[in-house]
Amino acid sequence: MSATPALIVAIDGPSGTGKSSTSRAVAARLGMRYLDTGAQYRAATWWMLHNGIDTTDPAAVAAAAGKPEIVSGTDPSGPTITVDGTDVSVPIRGPEVTGAVSAVSAVPEIRARITELQRSAARSAGPGIVVEGRDIGTTVLPDADLKIFLTASPEARAARRSGELAGTRNAVTLEATREALARRDAADSSRKASPLAKAADAVEIDTSELTLEQVIQRVITLVEERQDAKRHATA
Ligand code: C5P
Repeated sequence: MSATPALIVAIDGPSGTGKSSTSRAVAARLGMRYLDTGAQYRAATWWMLHNGIDTTDPAAVAAAAGKPEIVSGTDPSGPTITVDGTDVSVPIRGPEVTGAVSAVSAVPEIRARITELQRSAARSAGPGIVVEGRDIGTTVLPDADLKIFLTASPEARAARRSGELAGTRNAVTLEATREALARRDAADSSRKASPLAKAADAVEIDTSELTLEQVIQRVITLVEERQDAKRHATA
């Protein structure tokens, strides 16, 4: 039997749909690389805040867009993210960054720079890669072998997100979580530069009533079908 073909898998959708947990687990189980593109936008935002750039001023953000040196480690068993050599994996999850990231990621100069990092990670991923984000199937990797769009009801998403934050110093009420998610979705979906959107050829999975394990299994089945199809196409 011929070797397993290296696939590029794009997984998009809003937060709270199980996107990160699913993408990471699928990559780990199938021996692929994993790229969290939200972490890259968060890292750029952390750098802006850390360097006193007004994140509500698109011109100021655009002028500084080329400065942060963002490096992502793509091992799914321990993904890493550094900016100018500093590990920012913890501070990028804090409320300051979460509150400012949609404004920063709407700036075209930021998107152009980070999109280039994402394309280069996909090109150099020998065993294939799972790339998760908002615009991967539509803009970053329109030729991906498989595109998946995860959705879930607002209630399910808010419950998951506040479950993740419970017990951390970023814990907030369910209602506040739901409102914050709705605000971020509205900003991410309405921006001019590559908004959150489902690609026409993406497979949509509503995760509201599914366990994480069920979502992982569905995605793995889809990946294996594409691997088989590619194997036959190149045989
Ligand atoms: O996935 P996560 O919630 O960490 O993403 C943080 C933010 O990064 C999103 O709200 C969005 O503004 C931005 N983002 C983006 N394009 C991507 C991934 C994330 O604009 N591909």
